[in-house]
Amino acid sequence: MEFINEDYINYLLESEELLDENYQKDLIQKGSEAKGLNLKEAAALLNINSPEILEELHHTAKKVKEKIYGNRLVLFAPLYITNVCVNNCLYCAFRKDNKELKRRTLTIDEIEEEARFLVLTGQKRILLVAGEHPKKASMDFIGGAIDRIYNINLSGNNIRRLNVNTAPLTLEDFKLLKSFGIGTYQCFMETYHYQTYKVMHPEGPKRDYAWRLYAMDRALQAGIDDVGIGSLFGLTDYKFETLGLLNHAFDLDYKYGVGPHTISIPRLEPALNAPAALNPPYAVDDVSFKKLVAVIRLAVPYTGMILSTRERAELRRELFEVGISQISAGSRTAPGAYKESQESIDEHNLEQFQLGDHRTLDEVVKDITSLGYMPSFCTACYRSQRTGDRFMELAKSGNIGKICVPNAMATFREYLNDFASDDTKLIGNDFLQSELKKIEGVTRMKTKTMIERVNEGERDIYL
Ligand code: SAM
Ligand code: SF4
Repeated sequence: MEFINEDYINYLLESEELLDENYQKDLIQKGSEAKGLNLKEAAALLNINSPEILEELHHTAKKVKEKIYGNRLVLFAPLYITNVCVNNCLYCAFRKDNKELKRRTLTIDEIEEEARFLVLTGQKRILLVAGEHPKKASMDFIGGAIDRIYNINLSGNNIRRLNVNTAPLTLEDFKLLKSFGIGTYQCFMETYHYQTYKVMHPEGPKRDYAWRLYAMDRALQAGIDDVGIGSLFGLTDYKFETLGLLNHAFDLDYKYGVGPHTISIPRLEPALNAPAALNPPYAVDDVSFKKLVAVIRLAVPYTGMILSTRERAELRRELFEVGISQISAGSRTAPGAYKESQESIDEHNLEQFQLGDHRTLDEVVKDITSLGYMPSFCTACYRSQRTGDRFMELAKSGNIGKICVPNAMATFREYLNDFASDDTKLIGNDFLQSELKKIEGVTRMKTKTMIERVNEGERDIYL
């Protein structure tokens, strides 16, 4: 169907030569150069079964991620503005036929309250999420929400990058979305497998596979430089899905010279009254999941790879080791849930799906710091016009890390000074000191100066 070449993907999945272990080892070596892999090579790596070769794959994916982005992990939180939806996706609690779900669309004031809550925990990036609805998730409403959120300023603390995950838009609406000043436009294909797609999306506008598949083309044509793709793992065979996702990434890169800014890898979680989520047709086990993350990292080294709080803390720790570069933390998937979590209201009949990691932002920050990752609240690229091909050039050549790490450190300093618990501050101070020593030459001086300026009270300093 369309540019996703199902026949070729199926041919690769059946090809015996791609089971050859020596070939797989050679490909890991090739992948270590951080120049990417093609579809056939990725298919061979997805076939790895030997524990030793798998170990080598994991190790190489970690090195490639560090070569491009350093040890930083970017943090963000989703903000759900409505759970009303005209579609009927069989895996989602927001689907229109789910009568057990309490429907709720936030007012602009409530959206501001949610965003203020996030700012006061230390977040600087929000991913705005909505069901699909012509009125409840209209462009006017989304624009109003974005404007209100960007205008929050709590003593220099604010939301500095708003990414958006909504249903696919028309070219005209994408132009409007761009004019609201968004960062990345994100939309997941859910499944690239055409027949499965048709079964999972029985009605509503989302039933149109091609409309969704070409959403990113329209977004890029409308001038949105950074687009994020993804698929929902568990709907079809994970090897097929990974290759479909890579096919999409390569296609965008080929056509526009800009691959996906991010790739997301949501895995099906239980959701209220959503049959496909409660009984996933192709549940992906943890070992395969870790493998596919590592394969994506080697195949598309320059992309930001996003891991959400769908996964449990223990598995998240393992996945950071194989190429994840952005994570959500302290998330809620019900509209209004941040503020109301303070009032212990039951979210179960409002939320989109159940989460695996319930820790607060501070707990996650402390955890990743003690594991040796630099927490980053950086939003510099988008505001320095380092988007689209300008960002890609730096990422593909492995030079983005030289900007990312100092920016991560300055924003982490902000977090430690403004929001961290005493425990996190203790670990974070030591970590910043020791990481600063590892930076070489001029960059160390620049980073040191940025950190000093933050300590003197300046905010939002970046390269
Ligand atoms: N309604 C828009 C759409 O479908 O594109 C906006 C995004 S939807 C609220 C966010 C994403 O959540 C979906 O694209 C899907 O991949 C994911 N999702 C839906 N149900 C899920 C479940 N049960 N477990 C994990 N992720 C799920
Ligand atoms: Fe609606 Fe998106 Fe959920 Fe589908 S995944 S029911 S489109 S909110």
